[in-house]
Amino acid sequence: MRSTMQDVPLSIGDLVRYGTTVHGRARVVTWSGDPATARRSTLAEVGARAARLAHALRGLGVTGDQRVATFQWNNQEHLEAYFAVPAMGAVLHTLNIRLHPDQIAYIADHAEDHVVIVDASLLPLFAPVLPRLRTVRHVVVCGGDPGALAAEGVAVHSYEELIAGQPDTFDWPAVDERDAAAMCYTSGTTGAPKGVAYSHRSVYLHSMQVCMTDGKALSQADHALAVVPMFHAMSWGLPYAALMVGASLLLPDRFLQPGPLADMIQAERPTLAAAVPTIWQGVLQELESAPRDVSSLHSVVVGGMACPPSLMRRFEELYGIPVLHAWGMTETSPLGSVARPPADSEGEERWAYRLSQGRLPASVQGRLVGPDGRPVPHDGTSVGELEVRGPWVTGSYHRDDDPERFHDGWLRTGDVGTLTPDGFLRLTDRAKDVIKSGGEWISSVELENQVMSHPAVAEAAVVAVPDPRWDERPLVAVVLKEGAVAEAAELRAFLAERVPRWQVPEYWTFVAEVPKTSVGKFDKKVLRGRHAEGALK
Ligand code: ADP
Repeated sequence: MRSTMQDVPLSIGDLVRYGTTVHGRARVVTWSGDPATARRSTLAEVGARAARLAHALRGLGVTGDQRVATFQWNNQEHLEAYFAVPAMGAVLHTLNIRLHPDQIAYIADHAEDHVVIVDASLLPLFAPVLPRLRTVRHVVVCGGDPGALAAEGVAVHSYEELIAGQPDTFDWPAVDERDAAAMCYTSGTTGAPKGVAYSHRSVYLHSMQVCMTDGKALSQADHALAVVPMFHAMSWGLPYAALMVGASLLLPDRFLQPGPLADMIQAERPTLAAAVPTIWQGVLQELESAPRDVSSLHSVVVGGMACPPSLMRRFEELYGIPVLHAWGMTETSPLGSVARPPADSEGEERWAYRLSQGRLPASVQGRLVGPDGRPVPHDGTSVGELEVRGPWVTGSYHRDDDPERFHDGWLRTGDVGTLTPDGFLRLTDRAKDVIKSGGEWISSVELENQVMSHPAVAEAAVVAVPDPRWDERPLVAVVLKEGAVAEAAELRAFLAERVPRWQVPEYWTFVAEVPKTSVGKFDKKVLRGRHAEGALK
């Protein structure tokens, strides 16, 4: 028997229509470094400007599923593109501004971008890449003058001139909910970037998960600070989820250093904020040296790499702010699991749940698979590679067969860990980062977390280095807190009390900064490269 239910497609057009009218008063603030000059707008105004942008893009020949790329900070114009492009039936492609020019050119070509919207402050990065872009026909420059930007066969426009005089409304067309709405390439932490194309349906369903109480619990009462770039896995779903519930958005533009972030939090009083742990480490240090009022925050969402326990505890103990640990990937839209502890858990057991990668939601199924491809039990101790499937998990890469990453309709995550019978995921490591020492595996994350719990340590990253006797051994790159002193011997002794003796690293290097990827994660590829020949004890 067929159901009697209406088959209404899920679309970003409907989200835009709803969010920019019903929740039209929700605020959209783009930070400028100073509350007096911050740009203050509303979802209604952003909706009207998005309509104008859509008309303008139609005029540039965006009449089908052409890719409209963005090369922008998190700001109002970027949000306008987020709304306009998918709602008009085209495909939004968020380019990562921090990639190497070769990678940017490769990705824009691979996605076949037709238009690129560029922030004027990023022209020094973009201009040298432009002549290499083979499919781009139009560049639209926002937030300033296009200057001398030019390339053969490419028309250069000013954003404001282009949208001026266009109608404030757009009849967002009906779409097939399975069609691509937006695309994002993986940040390439472990390999070449791969394109993931989200559908209208997947974005819609994912947005609901972001708003669920046991998801990120985003609500109309929130003023959400999206530090996570809008080019990194769709800013973890915040822009579209904000439309769904009418949350206000605080967009940091280019003010991403710990000092300006702390100033912004004090001045604009966000309630929820999302960023990778390395950002929060920096903010914590900043607050220690120059205290600010961050009491407005009731939830700090971290993900993208394991959350160091010391970070979570310090935020909570010093500022009373709960850190919410979540796991996800570009390939999973990105929200997968969220570490909300069971209601009846207490004390250290509760902390252990919170520090895990969290519980997979009903819509994301997970399973563990051993090296032989066979299932591994979900008993909380047996270790395997995590595979996931669900309505917002990618089933392939865009124009790139990569059968190794898919297994019977499941996505192989490359993440290794355990699952408990009640669905909590505890990742030990990325498969590529595990240290294989004398036939045993050492978790780089576990060592990092332990080193980072030492009071003198600001950051620590652990990678495998070749070792003649054991094959691989861990090397620790340590950043000490300002003014703190600690030697390798002391840190070794500290670790010896906390991890099995055979795991205690003999290789240590003290550095000013751990190298970071384009989205702020520890860049272990670079660290491994530095020590590929082995390391000095
Ligand atoms: P990239 O793989 O290039 O870094 P993504 O940003 O999509 O691109 O990263 C997804 C990966 O980030 C996951 O597969 C996992 O290894 C890591 N990750 C994300 N969240 C967490 C987390 N909470 N704990 C540990 N690792 C995480």
